[in-house]
Amino acid sequence: MKIHIILCTFLTLVTVQAAETVKPSQRPNVLVIVADDLGYSDVGFQGSKDIPTPHLDRLAATSVRCTNGYVSHPFCSPTRAGIMTGRYQHRFGHENNPVWLPEDTKQGLPLNQITLPELMQKAGYTTGAVGKWHLGAHPQFHPMKRGFAEYFGVLGGGHIYFPNDKGGAEYTIPLNRNGVDEPQKKYLTEQFGDEANAFIQRHAAQEKPWLLYLAFNAPHTPLQAPESWLEKLTSITDKSRRTYAAMVCALDAAVGQVLDQLETTKQRQNTLIFFISDNGGPNLAGKSGTNFTDNSPLRGAKGMVYEGGIRVPFLVSWPEKLQPGTYDQPVTSLDILPTAVTLAGGEIPQDRIIDGVNLIPFLSKEKSSAPHDTLFWRTHGPKGNHAIRQGNWKLVQLIGGKAQLYDLSTDVGESKDLAAEKPEMVTQLTSAIEEWGKGTVPPVFESPKEIKRPLK
Ligand code: CA
Repeated sequence: MKIHIILCTFLTLVTVQAAETVKPSQRPNVLVIVADDLGYSDVGFQGSKDIPTPHLDRLAATSVRCTNGYVSHPFCSPTRAGIMTGRYQHRFGHENNPVWLPEDTKQGLPLNQITLPELMQKAGYTTGAVGKWHLGAHPQFHPMKRGFAEYFGVLGGGHIYFPNDKGGAEYTIPLNRNGVDEPQKKYLTEQFGDEANAFIQRHAAQEKPWLLYLAFNAPHTPLQAPESWLEKLTSITDKSRRTYAAMVCALDAAVGQVLDQLETTKQRQNTLIFFISDNGGPNLAGKSGTNFTDNSPLRGAKGMVYEGGIRVPFLVSWPEKLQPGTYDQPVTSLDILPTAVTLAGGEIPQDRIIDGVNLIPFLSKEKSSAPHDTLFWRTHGPKGNHAIRQGNWKLVQLIGGKAQLYDLSTDVGESKDLAAEKPEMVTQLTSAIEEWGKGTVPPVFESPKEIKRPLK
């Protein structure tokens, strides 16, 4: 009897402790992980055969995998401007990459835009960013001026990976911690993993939930990888592909560390994680002359408005509330802001158009309708390259070319142009693009150099 009572008391204590650990009523932490220039098929959960990514696959196994997940731009900085605002970046002229020019007050995320971390801070969240910023070099554009309470990373559009490697001015700037320069210590992807770990550990015991924006610059060029990973990938004979694969493996390992830390600190269940790439894999020939990224089965690459530039690996994981599985309706990186801010109990700005939507009712199957009727893409300004997706119809209008029409339900590779067969659909989608364009402005700054993009 006595033993029984003791046992019961013990069990009660255990139950109470478990309940406190899970904290079901608490608002979730939000972790946004962004890879840079990752090919559509270059992770295990997207079907890669030659690049092992056990940790990202582990994340995918607890995620809703969005099979029609898009970013709002086919290259770096504008996609990030979309993530930060929940708005088509064309609405405020952020359609190009800013040049690395710390005295320039124009080239960066316009100061009249309200950002995701600002909204999360207002809702009572601790906010931190680790990694690539690429939203302006002038001090006024620093992450800590845009809503992040903590920052560690590279402020430009990319960086050398090993300390003391050679590279251009933007790629060799010192790392930046909370506004102060700091020398690089180790392989950059590992360092970003360490810093994300430290953030998660630091804020685990606090009452406030947190937002962490973890933006790896990997596997963006330069192709530089640790020997320890290269040795494991000798089955890949193309040297550029092998190095790129090793960079993806290092990214995978860093994500694994982060997942472990979330589990160790008992925060995994109630952390909402997004994982995306900021654009498709680039079409860059390695030393062998073949492209070292793989966007198959999609057409095109980084810089292009074909699916290969804009459709990306896209995971949403929240073990406490979302059943793992797949979701096939189109979703976009613009949805990150309204999803996070709604869960945080924050306020979505009412004085401007927010193009993203809260995805949770859709991913949980509470709502069966599509989150978006139509999605738009545009590069090179109002007279530039356009694409629109409405249902399964996709129209591509390139500079100087005729409108192309594809049915993505049967032709995800955009190989059979149906424009001549469906002129009424071409007219409908062309006028939808024109209408959308009225809510946009021309770019407020130009990219420092043209993105290489074969217009095929
Ligand atoms: Ca990129």
